[in-house]
Amino acid sequence: MSAPIPAAFIGHGSPMNTLEDNRFTAAWRGFGQSLPRPRAILCISAHWLINGTAVTAMPKPRVIHDFYGFPKELFDFDYPAPGAPEVAEEIAEVVKPAYVGLDKDSWGLDHGTWSVLAHVFPKADIPVLQLSLHGGQDADYHLDLGARLAPLARKGIFIVGSGNVVHNLRRIDFRRPDLAFDWAERFDARVKEIMTAQPGRLPEVAAHPDFAASVPTSEHFLPLLYLAGISQATGEPARAFIEGCTMGSISMTSYVVGAKPPAAAGGQGAASLPRGIPPEDTNA
Ligand code: ZN
Repeated sequence: MSAPIPAAFIGHGSPMNTLEDNRFTAAWRGFGQSLPRPRAILCISAHWLINGTAVTAMPKPRVIHDFYGFPKELFDFDYPAPGAPEVAEEIAEVVKPAYVGLDKDSWGLDHGTWSVLAHVFPKADIPVLQLSLHGGQDADYHLDLGARLAPLARKGIFIVGSGNVVHNLRRIDFRRPDLAFDWAERFDARVKEIMTAQPGRLPEVAAHPDFAASVPTSEHFLPLLYLAGISQATGEPARAFIEGCTMGSISMTSYVVGAKPPAAAGGQGAASLPRGIPPEDTNA
Protein backbone atom coordinates (compact mmCIF):
# COMPACT_ATOMS: atom_id res chain seq x y z
CA MET A 1 0.00 0.00 0.00
CA SER A 2 1.30 3.45 -0.85
CA ALA A 3 1.85 6.12 1.79
CA PRO A 4 -1.27 8.16 2.60
CA ILE A 5 -1.72 11.48 0.81
CA PRO A 6 -2.02 14.41 3.24
CA ALA A 7 -5.41 16.14 3.47
CA ALA A 8 -5.87 19.90 3.73
CA PHE A 9 -8.09 22.90 4.29
CA ILE A 10 -7.20 26.01 2.34
CA GLY A 11 -8.47 29.52 3.10
CA HIS A 12 -9.25 30.70 -0.44
CA GLY A 13 -10.25 34.38 0.02
CA SER A 14 -10.88 36.46 -3.11
CA PRO A 15 -11.30 34.76 -6.50
CA MET A 16 -8.50 37.10 -7.66
CA ASN A 17 -6.06 34.82 -5.83
CA THR A 18 -6.37 32.59 -8.91
CA LEU A 19 -4.29 35.13 -10.85
CA GLU A 20 -2.29 36.76 -8.05
CA ASP A 21 1.10 36.04 -6.61
CA ASN A 22 1.03 36.87 -2.89
CA ARG A 23 2.21 35.22 0.32
CA PHE A 24 -0.85 32.98 0.46
CA THR A 25 -0.74 31.76 -3.13
CA ALA A 26 3.03 31.23 -2.75
CA ALA A 27 2.30 28.98 0.25
CA TRP A 28 -0.31 27.05 -1.77
CA ARG A 29 2.24 26.47 -4.54
CA GLY A 30 4.91 25.32 -2.10
CA PHE A 31 2.38 23.03 -0.45
CA GLY A 32 1.40 21.50 -3.80
CA GLN A 33 5.04 20.86 -4.63
CA SER A 34 5.45 19.02 -1.30
CA LEU A 35 2.63 16.58 -2.08
CA PRO A 36 2.94 13.19 -3.74
CA ARG A 37 0.95 13.07 -6.98
CA PRO A 38 -2.57 11.92 -6.10
CA ARG A 39 -4.77 9.64 -8.21
CA ALA A 40 -7.60 12.15 -7.88
CA ILE A 41 -8.54 15.29 -5.95
CA LEU A 42 -11.74 15.62 -3.91
CA CYS A 43 -12.53 19.24 -3.12
CA ILE A 44 -15.14 20.32 -0.60
CA SER A 45 -15.83 23.88 -1.72
CA ALA A 46 -17.74 26.56 0.18
CA HIS A 47 -19.43 27.44 -3.10
CA TRP A 48 -21.47 24.29 -3.58
CA LEU A 49 -24.04 24.49 -0.80
CA ILE A 50 -27.21 22.55 -1.62
CA ASN A 51 -29.93 20.61 0.12
CA GLY A 52 -28.15 17.27 -0.05
CA THR A 53 -24.73 15.62 -0.24
CA ALA A 54 -23.52 14.84 -3.75
CA VAL A 55 -20.26 14.22 -5.53
CA THR A 56 -19.56 15.29 -9.11
CA ALA A 57 -19.51 12.19 -11.29
CA MET A 58 -19.11 13.47 -14.84
CA PRO A 59 -16.06 12.60 -16.98
CA LYS A 60 -15.50 16.23 -17.96
CA PRO A 61 -16.72 18.69 -15.29
CA ARG A 62 -17.45 22.19 -16.58
CA VAL A 63 -15.57 25.14 -15.12
CA ILE A 64 -18.05 27.44 -13.37
CA HIS A 65 -17.29 31.17 -13.00
CA ASP A 66 -19.62 31.71 -10.06
CA PHE A 67 -19.10 35.41 -9.25
CA TYR A 68 -19.79 38.90 -10.61
CA GLY A 69 -17.80 42.08 -11.07
CA PHE A 70 -14.35 40.63 -11.58
CA PRO A 71 -11.99 41.26 -14.54
CA LYS A 72 -12.45 39.44 -17.83
CA GLU A 73 -9.15 37.65 -17.26
CA LEU A 74 -10.77 35.80 -14.38
CA PHE A 75 -13.82 34.82 -16.44
CA ASP A 76 -11.44 33.54 -19.11
CA PHE A 77 -9.53 31.38 -16.63
CA ASP A 78 -9.80 27.69 -17.41
CA TYR A 79 -8.96 24.67 -15.31
CA PRO A 80 -9.60 21.78 -17.70
CA ALA A 81 -9.05 18.91 -15.25
CA PRO A 82 -10.92 15.70 -16.06
CA GLY A 83 -13.46 14.14 -13.72
CA ALA A 84 -13.41 10.55 -12.49
CA PRO A 85 -16.84 8.87 -12.37
CA GLU A 86 -15.30 5.66 -10.97
CA VAL A 87 -13.78 7.60 -8.05
CA ALA A 88 -17.19 9.19 -7.40
CA GLU A 89 -18.62 5.68 -6.99
CA GLU A 90 -15.78 4.77 -4.65
CA ILE A 91 -16.62 7.82 -2.52
CA ALA A 92 -20.32 6.96 -2.40
CA GLU A 93 -19.31 3.47 -1.24
CA VAL A 94 -16.77 4.45 1.43
CA VAL A 95 -19.12 6.82 3.30
CA LYS A 96 -21.93 4.27 3.72
CA PRO A 97 -24.34 4.18 5.50
CA ALA A 98 -24.14 7.94 4.97
CA TYR A 99 -25.60 8.84 1.58
CA VAL A 100 -23.75 10.68 -1.17
CA GLY A 101 -25.56 11.06 -4.49
CA LEU A 102 -23.81 11.00 -7.87
CA ASP A 103 -24.11 14.27 -9.75
CA LYS A 104 -23.81 13.48 -13.44
CA ASP A 105 -24.94 16.76 -15.00
CA SER A 106 -25.55 19.54 -12.49
CA TRP A 107 -22.42 21.07 -11.00
CA GLY A 108 -18.77 21.05 -12.08
CA LEU A 109 -15.76 22.91 -10.70
CA ASP A 110 -16.50 26.23 -9.00
CA HIS A 111 -13.98 28.92 -8.07
CA GLY A 112 -13.60 27.57 -4.52
CA THR A 113 -11.93 24.62 -6.19
CA TRP A 114 -10.05 26.09 -9.13
CA SER A 115 -8.80 29.31 -7.48
CA VAL A 116 -6.83 27.07 -5.13
CA LEU A 117 -5.91 24.24 -7.49
CA ALA A 118 -4.57 26.80 -9.99
CA HIS A 119 -1.65 27.04 -7.56
CA VAL A 120 -1.59 23.66 -5.80
CA PHE A 121 -1.76 21.62 -9.03
CA PRO A 122 -1.33 24.20 -11.83
CA LYS A 123 -1.16 21.66 -14.66
CA ALA A 124 -4.84 20.65 -14.24
CA ASP A 125 -3.91 17.11 -15.29
CA ILE A 126 -5.22 15.23 -12.23
CA PRO A 127 -8.93 14.26 -12.06
CA VAL A 128 -10.95 16.56 -9.78
CA LEU A 129 -14.25 15.86 -8.04
CA GLN A 130 -16.31 18.12 -5.80
CA LEU A 131 -18.37 17.16 -2.79
CA SER A 132 -21.35 19.37 -2.01
CA LEU A 133 -22.10 20.85 1.40
CA HIS A 134 -25.48 19.76 2.75
CA GLY A 135 -26.91 23.02 4.06
CA GLY A 136 -29.60 21.29 6.11
CA GLN A 137 -27.19 19.33 8.33
CA ASP A 138 -25.46 20.27 11.57
CA ALA A 139 -21.73 20.49 12.33
CA ASP A 140 -21.56 16.92 13.64
CA TYR A 141 -22.82 15.58 10.31
CA HIS A 142 -19.97 17.29 8.42
CA LEU A 143 -17.40 16.20 11.02
CA ASP A 144 -18.60 12.61 10.74
CA LEU A 145 -18.63 12.66 6.95
CA GLY A 146 -15.04 13.93 6.98
CA ALA A 147 -14.06 10.99 9.20
CA ARG A 148 -15.76 8.59 6.77
CA LEU A 149 -13.74 10.01 3.88
CA ALA A 150 -10.41 9.57 5.73
CA PRO A 151 -9.61 6.08 4.30
CA LEU A 152 -9.47 7.60 0.79
CA ALA A 153 -6.15 9.26 1.68
CA ARG A 154 -4.66 5.76 1.74
CA LYS A 155 -6.10 5.15 -1.71
CA GLY A 156 -4.34 8.01 -3.44
CA ILE A 157 -7.06 10.67 -3.05
CA PHE A 158 -6.10 14.21 -2.03
CA ILE A 159 -8.99 15.60 0.05
CA VAL A 160 -9.06 19.39 0.35
CA GLY A 161 -11.62 21.69 1.96
CA SER A 162 -11.77 25.17 0.45
CA GLY A 163 -13.38 27.96 2.46
CA ASN A 164 -12.31 30.45 5.13
CA VAL A 165 -12.22 30.17 8.93
CA VAL A 166 -13.35 33.80 9.15
CA HIS A 167 -15.46 35.12 6.26
CA ASN A 168 -17.52 38.28 6.73
CA LEU A 169 -18.14 40.18 3.49
CA ARG A 170 -20.17 42.92 5.22
CA ARG A 171 -17.14 43.98 7.26
CA ILE A 172 -14.56 43.55 4.49
CA ASP A 173 -12.19 46.34 3.41
CA PHE A 174 -10.99 45.40 -0.10
CA ARG A 175 -8.36 48.15 -0.15
CA ARG A 176 -6.43 46.87 2.88
CA PRO A 177 -4.91 43.45 2.23
CA ASP A 178 -2.88 43.61 5.45
CA LEU A 179 -5.77 44.49 7.75
CA ALA A 180 -6.96 42.03 10.42
CA PHE A 181 -9.75 42.94 12.83
CA ASP A 182 -9.14 41.95 16.46
CA TRP A 183 -12.20 39.72 16.60
CA ALA A 184 -11.15 37.93 13.42
CA GLU A 185 -7.69 37.26 14.83
CA ARG A 186 -9.13 36.03 18.15
CA PHE A 187 -11.47 33.60 16.44
CA ASP A 188 -8.80 32.40 14.03
CA ALA A 189 -6.45 31.76 16.98
CA ARG A 190 -9.10 29.81 18.92
CA VAL A 191 -9.85 27.65 15.89
CA LYS A 192 -6.14 26.95 15.51
CA GLU A 193 -5.91 25.83 19.15
CA ILE A 194 -8.73 23.36 18.58
CA MET A 195 -7.62 22.14 15.15
CA THR A 196 -4.11 21.37 16.34
CA ALA A 197 -5.09 19.69 19.62
CA GLN A 198 -8.72 18.50 19.76
CA PRO A 199 -10.23 18.62 16.28
CA GLY A 200 -13.31 16.65 17.33
CA ARG A 201 -14.33 19.65 19.43
CA LEU A 202 -14.46 22.05 16.47
CA PRO A 203 -18.30 22.30 16.55
CA GLU A 204 -17.94 23.92 20.01
CA VAL A 205 -16.61 27.14 18.46
CA ALA A 206 -20.25 28.03 17.74
CA ALA A 207 -20.32 29.20 21.38
CA HIS A 208 -17.29 31.48 20.98
CA PRO A 209 -18.07 35.22 21.50
CA ASP A 210 -16.58 36.07 18.08
CA PHE A 211 -18.39 33.30 16.18
CA ALA A 212 -21.30 35.46 14.99
CA ALA A 213 -18.99 38.07 13.42
CA SER A 214 -16.56 35.48 12.03
CA VAL A 215 -19.07 32.98 10.66
CA PRO A 216 -22.18 35.03 9.73
CA THR A 217 -23.09 32.28 7.25
CA SER A 218 -21.81 28.74 7.55
CA GLU A 219 -20.67 27.81 4.04
CA HIS A 220 -17.05 29.00 4.23
CA PHE A 221 -16.54 27.41 7.64
CA LEU A 222 -18.12 24.00 6.91
CA PRO A 223 -15.25 22.65 4.74
CA LEU A 224 -12.95 22.90 7.78
CA LEU A 225 -15.14 20.40 9.65
CA TYR A 226 -14.20 17.76 7.05
CA LEU A 227 -10.50 18.17 7.79
CA ALA A 228 -11.24 18.12 11.53
CA GLY A 229 -13.09 14.83 11.00
CA ILE A 230 -10.15 13.38 9.07
CA SER A 231 -7.72 14.50 11.77
CA GLN A 232 -9.88 12.96 14.47
CA ALA A 233 -10.31 9.70 12.57
CA THR A 234 -6.62 9.24 11.75
CA GLY A 235 -5.18 10.60 15.00
CA GLU A 236 -2.89 12.80 12.88
CA PRO A 237 -2.78 16.36 14.24
CA ALA A 238 -3.50 19.29 11.94
CA ARG A 239 -0.80 21.87 11.35
CA ALA A 240 -1.30 25.40 10.00
CA PHE A 241 0.95 25.88 6.97
CA ILE A 242 0.03 29.51 6.30
CA GLU A 243 -1.71 31.88 8.70
CA GLY A 244 -3.22 35.31 8.83
CA CYS A 245 -6.14 37.54 7.90
CA THR A 246 -6.62 39.81 4.92
CA MET A 247 -8.97 42.74 4.20
CA GLY A 248 -9.97 42.80 7.88
CA SER A 249 -12.53 40.04 7.96
CA ILE A 250 -11.13 37.12 5.92
CA SER A 251 -8.87 34.49 7.50
CA MET A 252 -6.53 32.81 5.04
CA THR A 253 -5.25 30.29 7.61
CA SER A 254 -4.78 26.89 5.99
CA TYR A 255 -4.18 23.48 7.52
CA VAL A 256 -2.71 20.15 6.57
CA VAL A 257 -3.17 16.71 8.17
CA GLY A 258 -0.80 13.82 7.60
CA ALA A 259 2.24 15.71 6.31
CA LYS A 260 5.56 15.82 8.10
CA PRO A 261 6.49 19.35 9.21
CA PRO A 262 9.20 20.91 7.03
CA ALA A 263 12.72 20.36 8.43
CA ALA A 264 14.17 23.40 10.20
CA ALA A 265 17.20 24.92 8.49
CA GLY A 266 20.31 23.22 9.81
CA GLY A 267 18.22 20.53 11.49
CA GLN A 268 18.06 16.88 10.65
CA GLY A 269 16.67 17.09 7.13
CA ALA A 270 16.14 13.36 6.83
CA ALA A 271 13.46 13.57 9.53
CA SER A 272 11.12 15.18 6.99
CA LEU A 273 11.14 12.18 4.68
CA PRO A 274 8.16 9.87 4.92
CA ARG A 275 9.01 6.64 6.72
CA GLY A 276 10.14 3.83 4.51
CA ILE A 277 10.52 5.93 1.38
CA PRO A 278 14.12 6.35 0.21
CA PRO A 279 15.25 9.74 -1.06
CA GLU A 280 14.77 9.99 -4.82
CA ASP A 281 17.05 11.23 -7.51
CA THR A 282 15.72 14.68 -8.30
CA ASN A 283 16.94 14.91 -11.88
CA ALA A 284 13.49 14.42 -13.36
ZN1 ZN B 1 -15.38 31.83 -1.26
